[in-house]
Order: sequence, then C-alpha cells, then structure tokens
Amino acid sequence: MNSKDKTACTHAEEYLALLDGELPLSPEETFLLTHPACVYIFTIPVRMDSGKIKRFNAYRVQYNDALGPTKGGIRFHPDIDLEEVSTLAFLMSLKTSLSGLPFGGAKGGVEVDPKMLSIWELERLSRGFVRGLYPNLGPQKDIPAPDVYTNPQIMAWMRDEYEKLSGVSAPAVITGKPLMFGGSRGRDVATALGGVYILEYLLQRRNKLQLPHRTVAIQGFGNAGLNAADILSEKGCKIIAVSDSSGGLFEKEGLPIHVLAQAKKSGTALADISHGSLRSAQKISNEELLEIPCDVLIPAALGGQITIENAPRIKAQIILELANAPITAEADALLYKNGVYVIPDILANAGGVIVSYFEWVQNLYGYRWTTEEVFQKLKRQTTDVADSIYVTDKNLRVCAYAKSVKNILEASHIRGG
Ligand code: NAD
Repeated sequence: MNSKDKTACTHAEEYLALLDGELPLSPEETFLLTHPACVYIFTIPVRMDSGKIKRFNAYRVQYNDALGPTKGGIRFHPDIDLEEVSTLAFLMSLKTSLSGLPFGGAKGGVEVDPKMLSIWELERLSRGFVRGLYPNLGPQKDIPAPDVYTNPQIMAWMRDEYEKLSGVSAPAVITGKPLMFGGSRGRDVATALGGVYILEYLLQRRNKLQLPHRTVAIQGFGNAGLNAADILSEKGCKIIAVSDSSGGLFEKEGLPIHVLAQAKKSGTALADISHGSLRSAQKISNEELLEIPCDVLIPAALGGQITIENAPRIKAQIILELANAPITAEADALLYKNGVYVIPDILANAGGVIVSYFEWVQNLYGYRWTTEEVFQKLKRQTTDVADSIYVTDKNLRVCAYAKSVKNILEASHIRGG
C-alpha cells in the first residue's frame, strides 16, 4: 500500500502482515481491510460548571459493516487520537467476525481526562457525543458500548439523549447500560468472565492444566482487570500482582483481592490503599509488573504496553490479552519465538461484545435472560470459538485473524458492493 495514503489504518496493515503465507489477500481485499468505511471527526461543546464553554475533540470510526451494523465502545481518555480509534475499530471488526456475531466493527473516543470533570460536566459531554453523531447511530446502524473510563451511567445518558432526539424508545441503540435501564445481566463481568472461560479451556486443551494454583499478574484494575482478578482468585489462582494508573502491588503469596476490590470500588487508587493484610506487599511500577515471572500475565489497561523493547524480558508462560492491542505486532512475533503463548485480544476479551450482543437481542425482543442463561450462553460461545481456531503449536493470533478476515471477505463478496 502507498505510504502516502492518509486514509489507511497503518496498524491494520501491520497486523494483517501476520497473515503473509497463511491467507493470500488481493490488493482490493487489502484495501478493504486497511481502510475504514466511515470516519467522523467532530468537536463537542460543553458548558462547564464555571459557565464557560469548552470544546472536546471526538471521533467515531465505523470500520467495516459487511457483517451487520457496526459495534464498538467509546473511550474517554486524554491521549486518544484518530489513529488509535481507527486501529481499535479495525480490531472490533475482526472480533465481532471471529465470534460469529451479526455486527461489523466501530470505535469511538473523546480526548478528555474524565477525572477532571464534575459529574454534570461528564453528563453534558456524554449527551454531546450522541448529538454530534446523530443520525449516524442507531440499533440497525451503529451501536456503541463502554470502554476505558466510560461506564453504565454514561451509556444511560447516551441512550436517553438518543431517544430525546429520535422521539422513540430505542434501548438497543447502546449496550452496557445499567440493569434497570435495559442492561443485560452479566454484562458487568462479561469481558473478564469470557477471558477466564477461554483461558480455562486453552490451559486444559494445550497444557493439560487446571486453573487452581496458577500464578497471575494483572495490569489494569478497572472493569476488565478487577473482575478478572476477582473471578480467578475465586477459582483458586494466586493473584501475585495488580496495578492501576497509580502503580502496582506485588505479593508472591497472593494478594487479598477482595480487600483491594472493595477499596478500589469506593474510589481509592491502588497506590493509596493501606490495610493490615497488605503488610508484606511490595509497591511496583506498571513496567515492573509486566516482567514478573508468573504463569499468566493479563494486560487489562491500555494498548502498546508490550513492545520490542520489553518483550525480551517477559517471563510469563501465557498472556491473556484482556486489553485491546496491548502487544505491538513486532513484540508479538518475538514472544511467539520465545515460546510465550499469547491468547489474542479479539478472542480473549470478546466476552464483552458477546454479552453486548445478548443485551441488544434482549432489547429488540423484550426478553429478560437470567444470569445463569447469560453465563451459559457466554461459556458455550467463547469456548466454541476457541475450539474452532485452536491448532497445536500454532500462533493463535494468526489462526484468529485468518478466520475473522475470511468471514468479512466472504460477506463482502456475497454483498458484491
Ligand atoms: P476501565 O476504565 O474500567 O479501567 C481501566 C483501568 O486501567 C483502570 O484501573 C486504570 O487505572 C488503568 N490504567 C489506566 N492507565 C493505565 C496505565 N498507564 N497503566 C496501568 N493501568 C492503567 O477500562 P476497562 O473497561 O477495564 O478496559 C480496559 C481494557 O480492556 C481496555 O484496553 C479496553 O479496550 C479493554 N476492553 C474492555 C471491555 C469492556 O467491556 N470493558 C471489553 C473489551 C476490551
């Protein structure tokens, strides 16, 4: 591809290079996969509590809709930019395709540090995102969801704003909503639980191992990371390290996850938690956490954390990518060479979008599924997908990409447009 082509998603190009020799792509197919279908760049004016108007840069990339309406989260983060949103939207397209969902892929982002906003400013910003994008959203068009620093309350404001503008009830316009406002049971833990189901399945299938007593280090202690720590610790794993943006904690005998989770949920950063049970825990940095010797490393924060620079020092046996794109393409190749088994993001964290799909179906048909029903369907769907792509000793990312790209191309060819 011409490097002067400013509309292309260059990271998509890097990731697709993985398929060289595995799945030959024609120039037209490469073009389709490396170019987003639709990009929206807009500013959101927000009246701050001071009375002044502040404008925030916002993006929505609807990457590929061959398989259905586009689907993907909205991230509120000061460092987000169009390149990252495009890459994440590309990965969402692969993820929905791999999981056999009737969706394409999208992603949204607002350049903001939400920790610096009051609750009312956050509400006005969230509503502004929907106003800026309407009428390009909709239950059969583009369906957002939460991502980093966005949550069920934000999804509720967004649904409400969409309904005010459209004049009709449209719960399926957005997923990850509060349970009382059209959310699905199980959506809060879905990303972590889906990842745990896949880890459990692959550990058994590949290594003939069970989860209990495995040592685990987790970077990121939000929706994905905290719930993963909680579920894995319940299943008998030893969580030896966790971190958030304030820093991390290490305890070789295992950290008291319930204590940390409780403090974190009441708003205390990990670095500020003091409790008797943490007496022998050691403070570590986010960089140190990644290099701890452990059975399973779970990046569950931001992208680009494992690069060609620190990849040679990774001592984990398995990496479960709950975050999106935490490993660069170059680092991924090196880890594979070094025998580190990587469970790629588009498989590992697909539980979130799978239960978002369940939420969308329930909203469209007026169903209310029980937690057991949701978990049972999630387990079946995640393990079926893992089973369909697993090949002994093969790079699982290559297998996952090959399947999802084939599905997208087949749907595009059938459409013919
Ligand atoms: P979240 O906002 O709930 O939590 C993010 C966590 O990352 C927080 O603990 C924060 O302190 C921490 N963090 C931020 N910057 C950090 C840094 N520089 N170093 C270490 N930690 C840092 O977000 P989330 O929903 O848990 O998302 C985390 C990752 O999982 C993202 O990559 C997201 O795209 C991915 N993901 C989330 C979902 C979902 O359903 N929430 C689904 C699929 C993928």
